[in-house]
Parts: sequence; structure tokens; C-alpha cells
Amino acid sequence: MRRPLVMANWKMHGSRASVDQLIDGLVALESASRQNVVVCPSYVHIPRVIAGCADSGIGVGAQDCSHMHAGAYTGEVAADMLVDLGCQWVLLGHSERRQYHAESDDLVAAKLAAAQEAGLQPVLCIGETREQREQGEAFTVVARQLRGALADQASLAGLVIAYEPVWAIGTGLTATPEEAQEMHRYIRGQLAEFAGLDPEQTSLLYGGSVKAANAAALFAQPDIDGALVGGASLDSGEFAQIIAAAA
Ligand code: PEP
Repeated sequence: MRRPLVMANWKMHGSRASVDQLIDGLVALESASRQNVVVCPSYVHIPRVIAGCADSGIGVGAQDCSHMHAGAYTGEVAADMLVDLGCQWVLLGHSERRQYHAESDDLVAAKLAAAQEAGLQPVLCIGETREQREQGEAFTVVARQLRGALADQASLAGLVIAYEPVWAIGTGLTATPEEAQEMHRYIRGQLAEFAGLDPEQTSLLYGGSVKAANAAALFAQPDIDGALVGGASLDSGEFAQIIAAAA
């Protein structure tokens, strides 16, 4: 179902003390706002966030998971383990995973299948690089990433898509609301065309230097349902303003 979801990607940030401060800020939000929030801390902080956010309505997710269920895969974390901890969500195919860990569309597809089987709600991250946009390939790249991850899935129930142009992530450069809207409209069309998803039931998030100052203009676009927020989610006050803009 389309809903105003605001997800925090804390990436590889945080100590127990700073995580506690962020949790305090989140649970102090009014109840209706909390239902729209999902936090994705580093694996090591997940139990702390789950405990701190208990009964608040705030969702908790991981930033990745393995495509394997169990076995001799040193350093990997299985989707079932995340469910066992109490996680409900997982980010998959984030551009930093694709860039620094060479994650292919095939691997992202396998992770998505593992997440679905375990009962996690996957958030598939897609987006083009600056070079690809400049060469007029943005739509082709996004379509390829979508098809690569979704084409052979047994189930896409509850899938959320985050469109994150790589050139906008952590750079301070945000896609204009019109650029983001154009791509979101295109993605909605693609989901209906080849994945058989009801586009009006699928939440599409925008990610890439979302801040309090630009959130309202992005959320005003008809095909932008919410945001995946990196840097600004590490500042309680700024993140609260983004959440308020999405309501
Ligand atoms: C992200 O990492 O998903 C992200 C959108 O980061 P930032 O908000 O810092 O650009």
C-alpha cells in the first residue's frame, strides 16, 4: 500500500551513546508520525534500536542481508537472523553496496528472494550515476536494475522501491522535485508493465541528500511517497522535520 514512509539509513555510523540519543529523539515524536518511520542501523546496533523503539510503532531494518540462508559464509548475516532479532525491513542494492562490494543485479535479485522468503520487507534501491544521466542513460539503467532484481521473483508482496540517483547520495546535490517525479512516474509504469505490480499499491521513496529544506517540495510530487535519508537522519531535529513534511 502507498504510504508516507521515511526511512533512516545510518550507514556505518554510531556508538551506543549516539544511537541512544537518536532513539530518544524518535520515540519522542508524536504517535502518528512514528508509524511512518523505519530506522536502518548498522547490524551491531539493531538489537539496541529494537529494544529502544519497542511499542513505538517505529520499524527497524538492516542495511543489507546475505542471499544465503546459513552456512560457512564468514561475515555474512542471513535474512532469517534479522527476522529472529525482530527486524521487519531490509535495504537491498544500495548504491554503496553496488559500488564498493560489486553487487550485481543478479546478486541483488537473490538477496531479494532470500529476504522475501524470510518474511522481511525489502526496499530495493536503484539509481543511475552522474555519467549515466549525462549520457542520457538514466531511464535505461533504472529499468535494467528493476528488471534484473524483480523479473524472476516468486513474490513481490510489500516491496518498496527507493530511487536514489547515485550523484545525489551524500553529495548535497538533490534531484529537483521535477527530475525525481519524472523518474518515479517512469518506475511506477515499469512496475505495472513487467512486474505485474499494482503501481498504486507500491511505495516509491526518493533518496539523495534529502534535508528539511527540500523534503516538502519532494513529497509534494504525486509519485513520491516518502524518502530514504542518509546524512540528515543522523541529526534528530533535521530528521524530525523531514518526517513532519511527509505526513
Ligand atoms: C542514502 O545513503 O541512502 C542516502 C540517501 O544518503 P544521503 O541522504 O546522505 O544522500
